[in-house]
Amino acid sequence: MAGLNKVTVDDLSVKGKKVLVRVDFNVPLKDGKITNDNRITAALPTINKLVENGAKVVLCSHLGKPKNGPEDKFSLAPAAERLAELVSAKVVFAKDDTVVGENAKKAVAEMKDGEIVVLENTRFRGAEETKNGEEFAKELADLVDNQAFVMDAFGSAHRAHASTAGVTKFVKETAVGYLMQKEINFLGNAVEDPVRPFVAILGGAKVADKLNVINNLIEKCDTLIIGGGMAYTFLKAQGKEIGTSLVDDTKLDYCKEMIEKAAKAGKKLLLPVDTTIAKSFPDPIDAEIEVEVASEIPADMMGLDIGTKTAELYAQAVKSAKTVVWNGPMGVFENPVLAKGTIAVAKSLAETDATTIIGGGDSAAAVISLGFADKMSHISTGGGASLEYLEGKVLPGIDVIADK
Ligand code: ATP
Repeated sequence: MAGLNKVTVDDLSVKGKKVLVRVDFNVPLKDGKITNDNRITAALPTINKLVENGAKVVLCSHLGKPKNGPEDKFSLAPAAERLAELVSAKVVFAKDDTVVGENAKKAVAEMKDGEIVVLENTRFRGAEETKNGEEFAKELADLVDNQAFVMDAFGSAHRAHASTAGVTKFVKETAVGYLMQKEINFLGNAVEDPVRPFVAILGGAKVADKLNVINNLIEKCDTLIIGGGMAYTFLKAQGKEIGTSLVDDTKLDYCKEMIEKAAKAGKKLLLPVDTTIAKSFPDPIDAEIEVEVASEIPADMMGLDIGTKTAELYAQAVKSAKTVVWNGPMGVFENPVLAKGTIAVAKSLAETDATTIIGGGDSAAAVISLGFADKMSHISTGGGASLEYLEGKVLPGIDVIADK
C-alpha cells in the first residue's frame, strides 16, 4: 500500500464540527500512574491540528482488557490527565461507565470549538465494543451528531471493533490521522516499495506466531534474518542438533518449505552459525546464569541467544542494507547475559544510514530502553498491527476509511 490513498485530517474542514477521534491511549499503568506516555505523545499531532482548526475534539480509546465491564483500574482518567498537561486546549474527562451516557453527552454539549473531551474506556462496553456491536457504534457516532470520525489508533487498526471500524458506517466523513499516515507510509513503503537491499529481521519466541510474516517477507525482502527462539525450529529442519532449545516440531516441514522457497527465489535466509547456550532456562528470568558460546549445541544444553559470530554476521547484513525492518528479540533479552545478541542487532540498526523500522512489541521496548530510539527512522506504536501489516493483510481500521 505504498502511497496512502485515504482521506486524511488535512482533507477535512472541521471548524465548529464535532470530530470523534479513535486514539490509542492504551498506556502501561502502575499503581494508577502512567509509566510510559509514548502513545499519548504520538497522538498529539492529530489532536493539535484538530484543535487549531477549531474542531470539538472527542477522543475515545480502549485501555487494557477489562473482563467484567467497568473497573476503576482500567479508567482512562490518568490518560486524560496526562493529555491535559501536554496540550494547551481545555480537556474534560467524561467519567461515564457506559462511555456514551449522560455524562458524556453533557460534556460534549458544553464543549466550545477547540476543546477536547476524553471518553471513558471503550472496553467498558465489553463485547459490544470487541464484537463490533452496531448499537454501540451508532451511539458513538450520535455523540458527535454523526459529523466526522478520525482513525489514529494504529495499535488497534488490526481489530474490527465498534470504535475502530463499526462507527464509520454512521458518520458523514472519515479520515486517517497523522500517526496512522506515518505508520502506513513507513511500513507500507518498506514492504511494497522498499529501497533495496531490503533486510528483514525476525526474532521472538515461536515460529507459529509469525508463519505468515515469514512467508510474506521472503517474497518481499532480499535477505531474511532469523534469530530468537524461532531459529531452532529452522536449525532442526536443517538436520542440526538443537539440544533442549525451544522448538515447534509441528512446524519443521513449514521451515523446510521456507528454506526452499528462499533458495528458489534467490533470497538470502540467514540462520545462527553459533549460539549462546546454557544448561537450563533462567528462573526467574533475570537470574544469574552461566553461559558459553558454541557453534554446535550439545544434546543436554539449550540455546538462549545468538552467538558472537552470528551477531557479527547479522550486523554485516544490516550494513549493506538500504531498508531494514526488525521484529522480535534475538534471545532471552530480559536477562542481561542473554541480551547481547539483541543489543548487537539494535546497535547495527542505530549505526546504519538505511531506513530502519522497528515493528513494535519487545524489539521496540529493547530499542527504547537501550537509548537508540532517536537513531531509528520509525518505531511502530503497534506490535500486533505492524505484524499483520508485514503479513500483507489489509487492516480493517484502515480499510473502512474513505478513499480520496
Ligand atoms: P510482541 O509479541 O510483544 O510484539 P515480539 O514479537 O517482539 O513481541 P515475541 O514473539 O513475543 O516477540 O517473543 C519475545 C520473547 O521471546 C521474549 O520474552 C524472549 O525472552 C523470548 N525468546 C527469545 N529468544 C528465546 C530463546 N532462545 N528461547 C526461549 N525464548 C526466547
